Amino acid sequence: MAKLLEGKNIASQIRDTLSKRISSSTTKLCLVSIQVGDNPSAEIYTRSQKKNAELLGIEFQLLKLDYSISQERFIEFLNGLNNDTQVHGIIVQLPLPTHLDYKKISEFISPDKDVEGINPVNMGRLVFGRSKVVPCTAQAAVELVNSTGVNLEGKEVVIVGHSEIVGKPLALLLLDKLATVTVCHIGTAKNGHLEEHVRRAEILFVAVGKAGLIKGEWIKKGAIVVDIGINKVDDKIVGDVEFEEAEKRAEWITPVPGGVGPLTVMMLMRNLVSLAL
Ligand code: NAD
Repeated sequence: MAKLLEGKNIASQIRDTLSKRISSSTTKLCLVSIQVGDNPSAEIYTRSQKKNAELLGIEFQLLKLDYSISQERFIEFLNGLNNDTQVHGIIVQLPLPTHLDYKKISEFISPDKDVEGINPVNMGRLVFGRSKVVPCTAQAAVELVNSTGVNLEGKEVVIVGHSEIVGKPLALLLLDKLATVTVCHIGTAKNGHLEEHVRRAEILFVAVGKAGLIKGEWIKKGAIVVDIGINKVDDKIVGDVEFEEAEKRAEWITPVPGGVGPLTVMMLMRNLVSLAL
């Protein structure tokens, strides 16, 4: 039976380190989170941001913008925050209304206040392995694997999902560790090749958002499984991997919830400290 890869213990160790660094500085850190319109899933995340910021003595401001705000007005708003010396970090909460272009907006968050690591300048630095900030979920997934003590060099790593905030940065981080990285996505599934790639994985990351997509019997014996997916099924939160069968085969597996999630918000706090202190 697999051992559980839980995020909360690692998150609390990182919180202790950050807390010491913050309390030894005279700068009063301020994090601004922007939410457009009402969205229950964004509110879960902003509550967690607020709680973790306050535990670390970081000022947290939640700015709620009207659903109908135009792209131009949104960018003006960001420029105001970029120029405000009292603000150290900016988060734009997803999902955004469809009339707002997130990729374009990410270009207007100052790279020096980009705590989510999504500005193309920071993404470009990541390609060179030189970014101060890395997209939080990707970094959280790597921290979990590191906590097992595994040496990633030459390992067969399979990532399912190729989004800008998870799969793509994750692939870059793992290549820097000299893992052999395969990235699967909807095209792989459409061609019927998903199962064969997943079966090869010594380390598997899944970030799709489809409950039960990865069959438990596909998991290689002794694999490390990091399930990033979040799905609501019958009022319960589950990942993308069939947990009960997978845990019989894996050596390590993340629970959902309780795996990547608790660490993601701590990565945000660490990015803020790296940029501002
Ligand atoms: P996204 O929608 O941007 O990307 C989904 C990816 O899945 C794409 O690469 C797509 O090609 C791929 N895909 C879709 N259907 C597929 C299929 N049948 N087979 C194989 N690949 C398929 O998603 P995202 O923003 O990266 O989020 C993915 C999941 O991770 C969601 O469930 C999201 O809620 C979760 N998430 C969790 C955290 C966390 O902190 N735990 C953070 C971010 C996202």
